[in-house]
Amino acid sequence: MIWESGHGGYDRVSPMEQEPLPAKCPNCGDGRVARIAYGEPAPSEELTRAIEAGEIVLGGCCVFQGSPKWQCLTCNQSWGVIDWEKD
Ligand SMILES: [Zn+2]
Repeated sequence: MIWESGHGGYDRVSPMEQEPLPAKCPNCGDGRVARIAYGEPAPSEELTRAIEAGEIVLGGCCVFQGSPKWQCLTCNQSWGVIDWEKD
């Protein structure tokens, strides 16, 4: 595993790492942006609450290179790249 430092200086980003949500959707400009959560999170009241509140969208069980990070709840645009296996 080689840590890249030549792509703008960021380090490897874990898909579980908590980043601040983007302020708005780059497509429609709406502020209802949810984090896309990958994997199979254990059902919980907190998870249900977060989904119902539009804070999290479930992205499926597997995360791929190039999977998006964010999804707009208004236009369903997804964007961002989970960049954790760059080589
Ligand atoms: Zn949008």
